[in-house]
Amino acid sequence: MAVPIVYHPDYSFPFPDKHRFPMEKFGLLADHMRALGLLTPRNGFRPGPCRQAWLTQTHCPDYLARFAANRLSATETRQMNLPWSEGLVRRTFLAPSGTVLTAQLALQHGIACHLAGGTHHAHFDYAAGFCILNDLAITAKVLLKQPGIKRVLIFDVDVHQGDGTAALLANEPGAFTCSVHCERNFPFEKQVSDLDVALPDGMVDEDYLAVVHDTLNKALMLAKPDIVLYDAGVDVFEGDPLGRLNISETGIRERDYQVLSELRRRGIPVATVIGGGYDDDRMALARRHGIVVEQASRVFQ
Ligand SMILES: [Zn+2]
Repeated sequence: MAVPIVYHPDYSFPFPDKHRFPMEKFGLLADHMRALGLLTPRNGFRPGPCRQAWLTQTHCPDYLARFAANRLSATETRQMNLPWSEGLVRRTFLAPSGTVLTAQLALQHGIACHLAGGTHHAHFDYAAGFCILNDLAITAKVLLKQPGIKRVLIFDVDVHQGDGTAALLANEPGAFTCSVHCERNFPFEKQVSDLDVALPDGMVDEDYLAVVHDTLNKALMLAKPDIVLYDAGVDVFEGDPLGRLNISETGIRERDYQVLSELRRRGIPVATVIGGGYDDDRMALARRHGIVVEQASRVFQ
């Protein structure tokens, strides 16, 4: 079977065009996957809204209710950095469920890809940096309640530190958080992951690929995971306005190939999420986010 792909048409919804957050990228990515023949009715899966119990075992119930009802304070909304709307609420409560579904499919098939997810700056009771709910922490906690899943590794190579994930899972012994990120970048107050690797500004492909390789091996050795959640953020790209690293698209391609091949070789199931990526050329951005799905198909066919 082709690599299972999780997507929902409500992930993108009418949104201010010029906003720094490219909300239309999810729909464009799905279109691009269809055009490549990677997403068809046979391997496409749609999540339902996230179960309340999944949300409240990771996030503060009062925060969830206030966000849903548009009752966040002005300061909280500024920190979230997204304009509130019904469409935003709908997509926010769908996407974590999509990451859970992707992980379940990965357990069955060895690999599955989510065309969203990786909202790693969301904390227990506040949103930050475009992230409202932390799909990675939510999914890790759901997985760890399942029989047979004792250890989950979150391998996060988005250019920004997975601070929310680190904080939310700090007291979860079954979850191992690993973040490879640019040191002098958002969030400026870092949290402590189980394994953090901070990179200097301007790093280039060769050095970066060696660090990702070594860090993955170290994380696998320490975590001994039953499943990996892979946040394949593309904001490491040299042209990304929020990046500060100098990684080419070829470098991103090699990174994803390297990570997925290693996990396949070891027989560890992997669920991918797209993570961050910013570009005024929204089509180029959608194609960049598609790289991880292309490499998943290449490695797992
Ligand atoms: Zn990012």
